Amino acid sequence: MSNISEFSLTKLVSGIKKKEFTSEEVTKSFISNAEKSKKLNTYITECFDEAIKYAKNFDKKKEYGGLLPGIPIAVKDLFCTKNIKTTAGSKILNNFIPTYESTVTNNLWSEGAFLLGKLNCDEFAMGSSNETSFFGNVTNPFGEKLVPGGSSGGSASAIAANLTPATIGTDTGGSIRQPASFTGVVGLKPTYGRCSRWGIVAFASSLDQAGPMTKNVEDCALLLEAMSGYDPKDSTSVNTKVENYSSKLTNKVKDLKIGIPKEYRVDNMPDEINNLWKKGVDYLKDAGAKIKNISLPHTMYALPAYYIVAPAEASSNLARYDGVKYGHRAKGNNLVEMYENTRSEGFGDEVKRRILIGTYVLSSGYYDAYYLKAQKVRQLIKNDFDKAFNEVDAILTPSTPNSAFKMGDKKDDPVSMYLNDIFTVPVNLSGLPAISVPAGYDKNNLPLGLQLIGKPFDEQTILNLSLAIEKRANFNKKISVWWN
Ligand code: GLN
Repeated sequence: MSNISEFSLTKLVSGIKKKEFTSEEVTKSFISNAEKSKKLNTYITECFDEAIKYAKNFDKKKEYGGLLPGIPIAVKDLFCTKNIKTTAGSKILNNFIPTYESTVTNNLWSEGAFLLGKLNCDEFAMGSSNETSFFGNVTNPFGEKLVPGGSSGGSASAIAANLTPATIGTDTGGSIRQPASFTGVVGLKPTYGRCSRWGIVAFASSLDQAGPMTKNVEDCALLLEAMSGYDPKDSTSVNTKVENYSSKLTNKVKDLKIGIPKEYRVDNMPDEINNLWKKGVDYLKDAGAKIKNISLPHTMYALPAYYIVAPAEASSNLARYDGVKYGHRAKGNNLVEMYENTRSEGFGDEVKRRILIGTYVLSSGYYDAYYLKAQKVRQLIKNDFDKAFNEVDAILTPSTPNSAFKMGDKKDDPVSMYLNDIFTVPVNLSGLPAISVPAGYDKNNLPLGLQLIGKPFDEQTILNLSLAIEKRANFNKKISVWWN
């Protein structure tokens, strides 16, 4: 079965259940693709031999349950995997082998899936292009010189190029949705607290969330269901019921009210993005939804607030990498010198920049002016959403202000890189769920995504609306393989 790796996750699950093909066949087809696709630089660690072994054993079982029976899954290298190297894309964790498994990956394995490998990402998930990884750039399958977005760039490219049936990423300011948009896949950031953060390498703890990245909306619902759930080990995990997102999935969205926020019409936004947004409105109108113009007046402050809060939390979280407890250790004539050398050698430029900014905004004298102010602004941004959600069921915006850009284009200009997150960060600051669904192409045939933002814990509504868009957008991803 040559095209097995092109099947959706849902189709693979049903095929394995009906014994149309074996887990071993599925696993081998993805491994064979991955082995021919080194040019994309998606995998940091391959667990291919172990995966085949697992699949063979799985196929011997007479009966199996779970949502993901016999499915190999590669995950972003930010999830700790027991006895498997976990790098967070950083030199400082280049030799780190966790003795524990993250809760969300564990949830996937409890549903019958198993690990195919660890996928490349920006260092400590800081970036919008996957160019900050110690393990090198990831290439977007849509073009040899194009970034896949970040920080879950390896994950996004791996799905787009059929190197894993589905994957999970993390999203602190857009790292699931932006790369999903750049590579024509579906990516969902759940409500803060929906998925456990336990065992995920921390970037900014009040913003980080894990979420699914998949080929289509149906797969996204299935994977979200598999990975979600309350976890007493994460004090911010919320104890609410996990919906049966996949069985409740419907494209019947008649009479749902959709907000269109005027503040997301930014200067210099390419016509293509505006047109895509209009098309999205038409698709949802066609599905019977009602469109309402709304205002989220503090949107313009989201990016500056994010780039204070996120580095502040990062500078604190990354203090633990001192050469004593984890990973890389440099030489030094005394303890302090060892710390300094370890951190100078172990961290890349972007991570150092964030630590500097974070330490600055938290230092006495600047705390009130920057950090505290940013937290207040964050509350105002959240209030805007709360108010809007009194009137609408979901909000529709573009996912990104542009399509995938060229490698190197923004690398030396952090501000222009940060501007890429303009539509995604308000959602993290407010703890809301949001999804990016592929909805069209730009003039160079590069994919573009639309973002749907939902009420807290109402992932179902944004999944349903995405399905309604997916059915109409007819986004027919055809990438001819050039990278083998
Ligand atoms: N691009 C954003 C940043 O660099 C978001 C990263 C993320 O969501 N992990 O902070």
